[in-house]
Amino acid sequence: MTGDWGLTTALDALLSVVLAPACAACDEPLEHPTQGPVCERCWQSILPLTPPLCDRCGDPLPTWRAVSVPLARCPRCRRTPRLVDRGRAIGAYEGALRAIIHALKYEGRRSLARPLGALMRRRGADLLDGAACAIPVPLHPSRRRHRGFNQAVDLARHVGIEVVPALRRVRATTTQTGLPAAQRHRNVRDAFAITRAAAPLAGATVVLIDDVSTTGATLEACARALKHAGVAEVRALTAARVVKNG
Ligand SMILES: [Zn+2]
Ligand SMILES: [Zn+2]
Repeated sequence: MTGDWGLTTALDALLSVVLAPACAACDEPLEHPTQGPVCERCWQSILPLTPPLCDRCGDPLPTWRAVSVPLARCPRCRRTPRLVDRGRAIGAYEGALRAIIHALKYEGRRSLARPLGALMRRRGADLLDGAACAIPVPLHPSRRRHRGFNQAVDLARHVGIEVVPALRRVRATTTQTGLPAAQRHRNVRDAFAITRAAAPLAGATVVLIDDVSTTGATLEACARALKHAGVAEVRALTAARVVKNG
């Protein structure tokens, strides 16, 4: 360690003494502030959802369902027809991943979109494979103005495929937080419309990008608008997924 300090190492040492920045996820002092606002330990603690996963929504399946079916479905997805054909997330919406998404979204730590997007790219590689483009879930213009940015757009820029703003929100919806599943679906239904950029996507496979999938209501509403416009397959890649009862 000694005698071979590079510039960033010296800068890290200086910054951690002068500014004493804390990790945006765990609040511990950052040892390497130049490497971003979240510590290595927090990044390492983000575990993928344990397979087998439902290929439709990305939820873990009970292990006894680990049958040899290549595209396994959870009971809920087999019961309800879905417009999102395949879904995936980096991991469950808890712990460090939840804290990192909060920091990005509510504290405006936009630099976190790059490493988060890179993780989405890695853990969602098979979903991105063969897709024509990434489509960020839009915010209503009033909310976008209030926040100053759309975290889904920031994430989409880093998943490695072309980003097409093919959707817009035509109706401001009350916040989904705290609403039960059925109401969430009613709340966002018809909240989205396609933009002119969607025209060349007829027959294509696309990947919706968002930060968190809770009940999937928002993604379903987006998929509805896209399929009406002739998109053949809609996949969804989110940073996190709310997983019920593990
Ligand atoms: Zn940390
Ligand atoms: Zn499912």
